[in-house]
Amino acid sequence: MILLDRVSKKYGKKGVALDKVSFFIEPKEFVVLVGSSGAGKSTILKLLTREEKETSGKIVVGGVDYSDLKEKDIPLLRRKIGTVFQDFKLLPKRTVFENIAFAMEIVGMGKKEIENTVPKVIDLVGLTGKEKHYPDQLSGGEQQRVAIARAVVRQPKILVADEPTGNLDPKHSWDIVQLLEKINKHGTTVIMTTHNQDILNKLNRRVIKLDHGRVVSDKVGGNISDDVDYDSVGSDGRVAA
Ligand code: ADP
Repeated sequence: MILLDRVSKKYGKKGVALDKVSFFIEPKEFVVLVGSSGAGKSTILKLLTREEKETSGKIVVGGVDYSDLKEKDIPLLRRKIGTVFQDFKLLPKRTVFENIAFAMEIVGMGKKEIENTVPKVIDLVGLTGKEKHYPDQLSGGEQQRVAIARAVVRQPKILVADEPTGNLDPKHSWDIVQLLEKINKHGTTVIMTTHNQDILNKLNRRVIKLDHGRVVSDKVGGNISDDVDYDSVGSDGRVAA
């Protein structure tokens, strides 16, 4: 469960990145965040992973109220949330296997467990046979599959994907979205940002739309370039169902 209740974020003194954003995401939901550049999508994801801290409002993830979080709780929180980015962020001098294994090594998992788990995740993302390849020997779509495998290898409850298809052509983009749907079916909550209308149309999932740091619509499907649906947004930033 993810709850944002009137969450605002200011970077420094000027400029409000988020203005009283409220929404609730059920466990195992698949939610898409849309909005033009600067609307606040990445900021929401960074608040969830605690890369940034809210200026005001309440965030609760999996029963943990972020206002009670201590520095020492953050590594454990991050284990529950896998992250995927537009630019993959793979280690160039490590193979596919090693890139994924690294995510387990850094949290102290044993060699046996790593050797047992990594091939299963490689199979899940459809890269069996490419274990020994280096990132520069893979297509963009394949590199993103490695990044997704790395993000899910510790079985996070939530996967956040910031423009995961931003560097991919339409065919590979859709393959990646389908992989995210498959991971969602396995029980992981997925929150993804996108600029891609074709993906929204095909996905037909819940879409939360942001504009200048406010939620302007929250419904299934939807159009990235739609006019703001002000009727559904209350003065406290809440969106009517
Ligand atoms: P989006 O992901 O929708 O493009 P962001 O969440 O990245 O939007 O940004 C929302 C607003 O916050 C923008 O006005 C952006 O310039 C500002 N912003 C984002 N990160 C920072 C930062 N680290 N310092 C200052 N301003 C920032």
